[in-house]
Amino acid sequence: MEKPKKLHAALLSSPGMGHLIPVIELGKRLVADHGFQVTVFILPLQASGAEAEIIEFAMTTKLLDVLELPPPELSASGLGEDAALATRLAVMMREARPAFRSALVAMDVRPDVLIVDLFGTEHLCIGDELGIPKYVYNTSNAWFLALAIYSPTLDKEVKGEYVDRTEPLEIPGCKPVRPEDVVDPMLDRSNQQYREYVRQAGEIRMADGILLNVWEDLQAETLAALRKEEFLGRVVNGPVYTVGPLIRPVRRAGLGKELLVWLDKQPSESVMFVSFGSGGTLSAEQLVELAWGLELSQQRFIWVLRRPTVKSLDGSFFDAGKGGDGDEVLSFLPVGFTARTRDRGLVLPSWGPQVEILSHPSVGGFLSHCGWNSTLESMTNGVPMIAWPLYAEQRLNATLLAEEIGVAVRPKALPSKEIVVREEVEELVRTVMVGEEGHATRARVKEVKRSAEMAVARGGSSYESLRKMKEDCQTRGHQIKKSR
Ligand code: UDP
Repeated sequence: MEKPKKLHAALLSSPGMGHLIPVIELGKRLVADHGFQVTVFILPLQASGAEAEIIEFAMTTKLLDVLELPPPELSASGLGEDAALATRLAVMMREARPAFRSALVAMDVRPDVLIVDLFGTEHLCIGDELGIPKYVYNTSNAWFLALAIYSPTLDKEVKGEYVDRTEPLEIPGCKPVRPEDVVDPMLDRSNQQYREYVRQAGEIRMADGILLNVWEDLQAETLAALRKEEFLGRVVNGPVYTVGPLIRPVRRAGLGKELLVWLDKQPSESVMFVSFGSGGTLSAEQLVELAWGLELSQQRFIWVLRRPTVKSLDGSFFDAGKGGDGDEVLSFLPVGFTARTRDRGLVLPSWGPQVEILSHPSVGGFLSHCGWNSTLESMTNGVPMIAWPLYAEQRLNATLLAEEIGVAVRPKALPSKEIVVREEVEELVRTVMVGEEGHATRARVKEVKRSAEMAVARGGSSYESLRKMKEDCQTRGHQIKKSR
């Protein structure tokens, strides 16, 4: 009997670790669990070290092909030096469209399905042109998606700046969004990043379905609200598939000998890991307060330390993993800090093997900027968090983690608005590592960990959701063929 033809999925990732990782992991899952053939298209790597390592690792698994598109021509795009991160990403993706289209058309065998991340919605029309089903992969959570797809409505209904409101923004069936928690593009409605955001949200309408990097039990209510006809039915033709948590696997040699030896010596769940994702940086003043707070807490720690920011909070996003910060970053710490904390702390300049660190049994807390990948990595390792949001959708994530899912504590004020002083840092660290509240948060995150494991296991909700997506995709493919 003839073997059924493999479905070939073309995945497109926008730049940055935060997008690249979940796109590659989705690709791997489609191949390994659901028999797809997958080609992942990426824009030229922005950072030499970490991104390249991820691609290399993905390639060694031999599961998928990764193709780098030629660099987009940005000189005529009007992109200013000071453009916001979301604007830069949107413009880069737009300018990459001709190259992506040509690459797809030139393929020996045309892909059967197109999957783009949220910054790639302008590429959905290529799916129409080629006559193949097309999906949007939202690499973040369901509340974030709800706010995004409701933003064209908010844009019509709300007058003035969102951040000037005193009342939260109501999204049907979902937890209301506090004005201070809105995503970066909504901070200033006159900025280009806002227009790009609302445009992207509107374009989701073209998709045959949306994939989300969460699982059913994590955000059951929000997912139910999203799926209601009066909400999603207006916005998108197809279903929402929960396919997460899709996270980077632990590499056996990833920790390196020195770090492994150090971690092995520490008691179980005694180390607080401090890291702000691939692009997060603190002000010089905040960096000093954090250092003092860690020291005063007397808890063990590993801190991925980056030079303080001079300009914007996302200033180093495109430098992630370049590792240029050698030991000179230590000079930004309070005098004598490293010597005084030598017996219980480690400082890693610029970059650390995060997934490997979080999966080590000695790690018991994560002070995190709440990027969605970091969040998933923490939850799937059963590690409670101190939510320290900086930019993008991190404020929303922090509120979700602390107030809805219950796996994080957080500073009284937003760290992007006010300096978190050393005494508060000390208290937060102690709360998570040794306090009563910490025990409850730890117990809750262990439950979440178990529910995540069940979701991705064979027959679990995320496994089944991806299987259903494959079926729907085949049906949709036949419908399109018939109608042409
Ligand atoms: N990461 C890492 N080492 C670091 C900093 C970040 O391995 O020192 C990885 C982290 O494990 C996560 C990704 O980079 O997988 C960051 O993604 P996230 O969504 O958390 O934040 P973003 O960088 O997009 O703000």
